[in-house]
Amino acid sequence: MRIYNKLYIDGQWVTPNGSGTNDVVSPSTLQVVATVPYGDATDVDSAVKAARAAFDSWSATPTDVRAKYLRAIADEMQKRLADFEDTMVEELGMPIALADDWQISGPIAACRDYADRAAFMDKTEEVDNVLIVKEAVGVCAFINPWNYPLHQMIGKMAPALAAGCTMVVKASSQTPSHAFILAEVIEAVGLPAGVFNLVHGSGRVMGESMCSHPDVDMVSFTGSTSAGIKIAEAAAPTVKRVCQELGGKSPYIITEDADLEKAVIYGVEDVMVNTGQTCTALTRMLVPRSRYEDAVQIAKTHAESLIVGDPADSKSYMGPMSSQGQRETVLDYINKGVAEGARLVTGGTDLPEGIESGAYVRPTIFADVSNDMVIAQEEIFGPVMAMIPYDTVDEAVAMANDTIYGLSSGVYAKDKAAAITIARRIRAGQCYTNGGGFSYQAPFGGFKQSGNGREWGDEGMGEFMETKSILL
Ligand code: NAD
Repeated sequence: MRIYNKLYIDGQWVTPNGSGTNDVVSPSTLQVVATVPYGDATDVDSAVKAARAAFDSWSATPTDVRAKYLRAIADEMQKRLADFEDTMVEELGMPIALADDWQISGPIAACRDYADRAAFMDKTEEVDNVLIVKEAVGVCAFINPWNYPLHQMIGKMAPALAAGCTMVVKASSQTPSHAFILAEVIEAVGLPAGVFNLVHGSGRVMGESMCSHPDVDMVSFTGSTSAGIKIAEAAAPTVKRVCQELGGKSPYIITEDADLEKAVIYGVEDVMVNTGQTCTALTRMLVPRSRYEDAVQIAKTHAESLIVGDPADSKSYMGPMSSQGQRETVLDYINKGVAEGARLVTGGTDLPEGIESGAYVRPTIFADVSNDMVIAQEEIFGPVMAMIPYDTVDEAVAMANDTIYGLSSGVYAKDKAAAITIARRIRAGQCYTNGGGFSYQAPFGGFKQSGNGREWGDEGMGEFMETKSILL
């Protein structure tokens, strides 16, 4: 049981002004596994003041010194690997066998990567009679969801530190402990006071005061599209830069001449990993009608082979949903799919075999889905895949793009060239072709209502820079 009762503000652990605690319930055992304190708007104000006071000095710190801090943070995070792993298993329900690979090692490597990129801030350009320089945006507010909590935190924190920004961060109430461990990491490496400040509380209270605070220059938010809209509205009166990484309902086109077995298995695993709670999950599988029934059978067999169970058991591929509430939401969608007339191929609303309690959902596959059904249009955020038949590639591309979202997409075709041709036609920020994996070098972000701005790579760092022209 992890117990925190202080927030980390201005380089110190302080008793929050807010009252009450956030008891974190394991979605597997339904027991409380951590307690962290709730702050309020006064705590946000103290944190923003500290970040503002630290900004001039941190943004003027030589980039090689900022890079050293980032490397030290990565080293210290590595030392705390087991603690981070425990939080993923206990609070999120991520299976232990996948937690390190999917949730922790990447963010640690990304800290080192942004240490290497810090020198980018020293680059200048001369054009005509102009010297163009880059400067840090300023004080940033970071608000994160629960599904890849450390990844989302580092995706903002590391480039912001490299660029010279200071920050106030807030994690989700479902998975807060990693952020408190990260604050301990920051304390251990001796990052100057006020550069990193941790607050905690509900999105409505803390989030909104972070977004509307006049001394915050930028908000970077990852979460649902509905909360993203509220955040943009709260930030608008003070004209902050707002970077939004929002929801998705990503399409996955398998072509007539693709290796069907490989393509379908890749798609099923992509949806089911992290129990379907992945913003980029390729939840709409578009399959040529001529190969449709074969694809459905492969998907059924593979989904049924995935081991769902205790996230602490190294055999589990899927744990529970992150909470009972999330389970209820997903079950509602499964009922909607049945009511809409989609064919339930496997899965459904019962608990998986052998499991008697906890927020578990069976890997669920729907066939005979049409793209206008609710289960094909709304983000379910659970282990539910919709299989949609198509007759021509043009029709598949049209359906792929017929969504309010544009975060990710996938294509499995005969070869790289054929896959790229289709990838270029899909309106989404990423396209995974022929089984390609996630890369921390790839700029990440959405088209349409999946957001704006980019994380990771050079583009991810660009979000934290202002451009200044000095006219000579
Ligand atoms: P959420 O939007 O409910 O909450 C995300 C964060 O926003 C939490 O910290 C919450 O406290 C805070 N928040 C909520 N309302 C707020 C408000 N009015 N003002 C300020 N802050 C507020 O999302 P969630 O349920 O935690 O996460 C799931 C969602 O996140 C899904 O829609 C998923 O697609 C999306 N997501 C997107 C990406 C991406 O990179 N595009 C990555 C992961 C998750």
